[in-house]
Amino acid sequence: MSGKADPRPTGAGTTSRTRLDRGRGALGPALELVHTGRAPTRAVLTAELGVTRATAGAVAAELEALGLIRVDARPGAAAGSQGRPSHRLRLADDGPVALAAQVHADGFRAALVGLGGRIVATAPGCETVDADPAKVLGSVVEAGAELLRETGRRCVGAGLAVPSAVAEPEGLALNPLHLAWPAGAPVREIFAECVRAAGITGPAFAANDVNLAALAEHRHGAGRGSRDLLCVATGHRGVGGALVLDGRLHSGSSGLALEVGHLTVNPEGRPCHCGSRGCLDVEADPLALLTTAGRAPGPEVSLLKQANDLLREEYDDPAVRTAAEALIDRLGLGLAGLVNILNPDRIILGGLHRTLLDTDPERLRAVVADRSLWGRSGGVPILPCTLDHNSLVGAAELAWQPVLDDPLGALAGS
Ligand SMILES: [Zn+2]
Repeated sequence: MSGKADPRPTGAGTTSRTRLDRGRGALGPALELVHTGRAPTRAVLTAELGVTRATAGAVAAELEALGLIRVDARPGAAAGSQGRPSHRLRLADDGPVALAAQVHADGFRAALVGLGGRIVATAPGCETVDADPAKVLGSVVEAGAELLRETGRRCVGAGLAVPSAVAEPEGLALNPLHLAWPAGAPVREIFAECVRAAGITGPAFAANDVNLAALAEHRHGAGRGSRDLLCVATGHRGVGGALVLDGRLHSGSSGLALEVGHLTVNPEGRPCHCGSRGCLDVEADPLALLTTAGRAPGPEVSLLKQANDLLREEYDDPAVRTAAEALIDRLGLGLAGLVNILNPDRIILGGLHRTLLDTDPERLRAVVADRSLWGRSGGVPILPCTLDHNSLVGAAELAWQPVLDDPLGALAGS
């Protein structure tokens, strides 16, 4: 055994290295600031981190050396404050990517997602989901691996979004009610095995699709700046919820928090696969809208698209309007209960719920206000989700997290 070994190379770049030694702990926070659009310039970065200009400069230079950001020392006049403009920081256009995968009731999709929640490439969604999760995950990972070969991008890891609660720490899909998968399937392990088999390096993660949508919206979309963010959304079937507290997903003691789909909103309502009756899951999802409006769901496109199209194109039809109002009332009842319990500072709605909000925002806000314990709860902002493919972007966030926590450790292996 030798004495204390310094793993760092000696020699070149000593001054910047010395500054970086002091600033290494700031690399992750700095990257997160640029990643979430909160540090567009080096001056803002310096102020946000509370470090010296020299340290902020060394930190930005190291992130640039890792291929994650670009530092533009001569920004155009458009960047301009008066006086000397600060160096502009932007995410590298050709930087690494995360492989993101999503499985839902009507198929699956693979994508490559860079920092900033930018979707770099997607593989066309498949239309059927096999009853064997290993087959489905093998196919979606293969589609992602093909995208990596086509683009030649470095991959930092992989994330998977599934329409099921994912029990921790084992990563089991506990209730894939709208897939033919067995309950309790070890999806994270299967996904990680598929990722390894495809020759993709980096860690693999899996989580519930609405949790991931909420995480993505908090960092890059309608949830930015919120402290207690409640997200409620339909997938292609069913309803899910998520809560982001101080920037972190609240997942409960074993990953199962915010299963809002099984709130009772209509005691006389439809039987639910959970064994109860009148749950949000069966009273306010795409299938519920179609059947309440007297429409027979067709097989040609997803139920979510059929339901969204019905609201957007046939709202003049009294049967469609009545059905929409019934769903808005049930959704509002569920949201009011959640507001009373969770006291969020913002609610964001995704999937069909986003379209219901767009269709009649006053009605939804009025139901939530009427049914909340405190009148002021009616003042909680209710906003539509803004990101396309927010579950995919959230799945990528899982894979990006080790890099955001320690860029140098994750990418340079030091
Ligand atoms: Zn239920």
